[in-house]
Amino acid sequence: MARIVPLVATVEEHLAKWISRPEDYRPKQCPHCGLARLWCHGHYCRKADRGSGELNPVPVPRYYCPGCKGTCSRLPSCMAPRRWYLWSVQQAVLVCLLAGVSLEQCAAQWAERGPALSTMRRWWRWLKARHMEFAFRLRNRQPEWGRAGEWREFWRGAIEEEPLRELMAYLDNEGLIVP
Ligand SMILES: [Zn+2]
Repeated sequence: MARIVPLVATVEEHLAKWISRPEDYRPKQCPHCGLARLWCHGHYCRKADRGSGELNPVPVPRYYCPGCKGTCSRLPSCMAPRRWYLWSVQQAVLVCLLAGVSLEQCAAQWAERGPALSTMRRWWRWLKARHMEFAFRLRNRQPEWGRAGEWREFWRGAIEEEPLRELMAYLDNEGLIVP
């Protein structure tokens, strides 16, 4: 979908980048009709900061296509489409689970400041369910990862080399729907 702008590690970085390098956010073309010149169309707000909340509301830039009159938005890669938690939180949980920590232990560890056990379970099932599709594309980018035999091994290796947010930004730009 090319919804995600890669290499924006944190919400703070996003806020600074949007002011200093706004052109990095403008899509190359309309995702609906392919027209190349999109107009800035304000922003919408997300509650992306679930820590102190100081950075909320976080603006997400929107664009308007004068060809088909459609709109689209561009998320910095630290933020996940359709998920409240940042990729960094999802990664921390998934790394624990990939290392063999149980869901219950993981939930206890994160207790009050983190996602609920049911949310963690959903992320875990999601990664397993999408593994074949994601791994197939990611091996085009990094053939070395093809050596991993089993799905958990694949993700342990991949996340060690690149943050989950950038793996997902790559897949998004390849046309896959993430998460
Ligand atoms: Zn269009």
